[in-house]
Amino acid sequence: MIVILGGGPAGRIASIRLATAGKQVTLVEHGGIGGQCLHSGCMPVCALNDVARLIHAAGELRTLGVVDTVPAPDFPVLLKKMGEIQQKIASILDEETRSAGVEIIYGKTGRLSGRTAYAGDEELRAEAIIAATGSRPSVPAIPGIDLPGVFTSKTLPGMKGLPSKMVIIGGSVVAAEFAYIFSTFGCEVTILSRSTFLKETDKHLRSLAIRELAGVTIRENIPVILIMGEDRVTSVRTPEGELEADAVFLAAGLVPNSEVLDGVKKGLLGEVVVDNRMRTNIADVYACGDVVGPPYLTPVARHQGIVAADNILGIPRVMDYANIPRSISLTHELAYCINETGGMGSIAIPGPAGPGSFWSVPSGQTGMAKVIFDPESGDLGGICAAGPGGGLIAGYMAFIMKKHFSVHDFEEFIEVHPSTDGVYGLAKYASSVIKKRNKT
Ligand SMILES: Cc1cc2nc3c(=O)[nH]c(=O)nc-3n(C[C@H](O)[C@H](O)[C@H](O)COP(=O)(O)OP(=O)(O)OC[C@H]3O[C@@H](n4cnc5c(N)ncnc54)[C@H](O)[C@@H]3O)c2cc1C
Repeated sequence: MIVILGGGPAGRIASIRLATAGKQVTLVEHGGIGGQCLHSGCMPVCALNDVARLIHAAGELRTLGVVDTVPAPDFPVLLKKMGEIQQKIASILDEETRSAGVEIIYGKTGRLSGRTAYAGDEELRAEAIIAATGSRPSVPAIPGIDLPGVFTSKTLPGMKGLPSKMVIIGGSVVAAEFAYIFSTFGCEVTILSRSTFLKETDKHLRSLAIRELAGVTIRENIPVILIMGEDRVTSVRTPEGELEADAVFLAAGLVPNSEVLDGVKKGLLGEVVVDNRMRTNIADVYACGDVVGPPYLTPVARHQGIVAADNILGIPRVMDYANIPRSISLTHELAYCINETGGMGSIAIPGPAGPGSFWSVPSGQTGMAKVIFDPESGDLGGICAAGPGGGLIAGYMAFIMKKHFSVHDFEEFIEVHPSTDGVYGLAKYASSVIKKRNKT
């Protein structure tokens, strides 16, 4: 039998892979199948962002005189409906996983002690174990952090109504995404970032994100030293003064859930140390997903699950972290896959008009396309696809980059029209510029 601890994207995909290959698999899940991604991560952001984009689009149409009202969200109903849909998705995932032949033990906490796995107190005899216990939001040690009115993505369902003034602590993608949602819903939002806001993002995309967050106050290099209030948050103190707030949202990163994993080697963040086959220091014990540390992304977690499962099956597969696409969901999907910038050339243009951005032309908010390439060979170093559907473009472009296509290969590319993909056109243009220069 193979035991998997955690039924998030990493553990669930690994379990299906192994069961489909004929292995007896037991998955231990103490919360809801689908993990953080479904219950408090990607899906809630999708759900709330969909509504925020609708409100944003209605605002643009009203400015143009095309519609006369902008809808307002009924936040409690929104959270309730979102919860119902999450449960529905969870039941589909449960069905899919069981149909593959996986036995699921719900409601028991899995743990590891050296080479032995447990579900609660019950020892599970296993030929191999995969630890896929994921991560949780980091809660910084700030006095007042336990006050009612302080939320993380995990405790968001406890928000009874929309706050009027929200402080978001953190400068990450998650901070940007929730700032967009709550400011579009009508809250006055201030981001307090301890360092540079979106510091790891391409500079063009970062400026675009800041532009799409026009209603949000973004303050950088400001630590929060105290969260104040009697029986609820009322304000936040920084070295530069106090800020009123009736809600604080923590977007200060994620922490691996590795406390239940005894005996495996861990790093400074508590992340389980693995090699490129997802093997831990203990024979036949593998780990994958957020519990092995950043980049905390669902597709990476799923792929690590496949790598772990294949190695258990005797199929040698290694995890490759090059060409990982990412996205920031604001008005548009600000998506990118950037591998290399050193010695590279780049061209950027505003995103084309088309489905999802036609009515944005008057405001100039149509997104952006960018191609990063080697000016001699035309090899692709990266792309940005910021616009409606940018995430799909970035995913496929990441794959194309993995296959070592160059801008010259786009000479053969035939697009769908209308669409808001500006990347292929830029690649064709870059190819013609390189060819012209090489002729002269
Ligand atoms: C707000 C937010 C937004 C995000 N948005 C995106 C996004 O847009 N795109 C993206 O790619 N990624 C996003 N992520 C990251 C993504 O959610 C994670 O990378 C992904 O869920 C990791 O999958 P996992 O299986 O490793 O862990 P998790 O999803 O954390 O799943 C771990 C599972 O293990 C279970 N578990 C934990 N401990 C035990 C135990 N001891 N016993 C039994 N079960 C246990 C948990 O209940 C959980 O079901 C976001 C995260 C957050 C917080």
